[in-house]
Amino acid sequence: MTQPLKILISAGPTQEPIDPVRYISNHSSGKMGVALAKAAIKMGHKVVMVCGPLQITPPKKATVHQVITALDMRQKIKKEASSADVIIMAAAVADYRINQPARQKLKKTKNTLTLKLIKNPDILAELGQIKKKNQILVGFAAETKNILGYAREKLIKKKCDWIVANNVARKDIGFGADDNEVYLISQHGYLPIHKCSKDSLAKKILQQILLSLKNPEKIA
Ligand code: C5P
Repeated sequence: MTQPLKILISAGPTQEPIDPVRYISNHSSGKMGVALAKAAIKMGHKVVMVCGPLQITPPKKATVHQVITALDMRQKIKKEASSADVIIMAAAVADYRINQPARQKLKKTKNTLTLKLIKNPDILAELGQIKKKNQILVGFAAETKNILGYAREKLIKKKCDWIVANNVARKDIGFGADDNEVYLISQHGYLPIHKCSKDSLAKKILQQILLSLKNPEKIA
């Protein structure tokens, strides 16, 4: 093994409060982020995770920061990012949060309720802006069509080195499933990784990403 690297991985959904008992969120289980963390630890690297509420236990050997909202996640990730060799944003960060969550539980007195949402900061794009030389930044793209096209746009817009793109329109892979099938995309080309368990996918993703630390143009 080469020198151990610090690999920062975000995982799971974020929850954005509506009031003290309700929130908006998404279906992310955190399985992909946890699989990546396990694979990185197996390869001998130091793993720091920033996790939203997960449906799965993160590995014991990882340093884990638990967060709830996108703003919490952003704060923790930014603290850890400057010393990370590789950052993998596998979390399904909520795109919007409630503008002003109610302090008390909302009562169901009216027939309609309008919630005002405001955009959350794009953590990955912010990391792209402050990315250090030799740091590898990896984002995920969950798409339902034009997978490669949208993922390439994201790669450029968010200044990532890699985008892991998958088709969330398929029920057998992606959110909550044990399997996934992805394209791994860089500015130098792409690598299709056919349907397999999230554990073996995690290993393949890491192998390719770590190879690109030494040789950025090589797609194995
Ligand atoms: O733009 P989109 O949400 O499809 O991009 C997905 C990628 O961006 C994921 O890697 C996700 O972790 C990251 N993201 C983020 N902050 C957000 C939204 C998404 O870091 N507010």
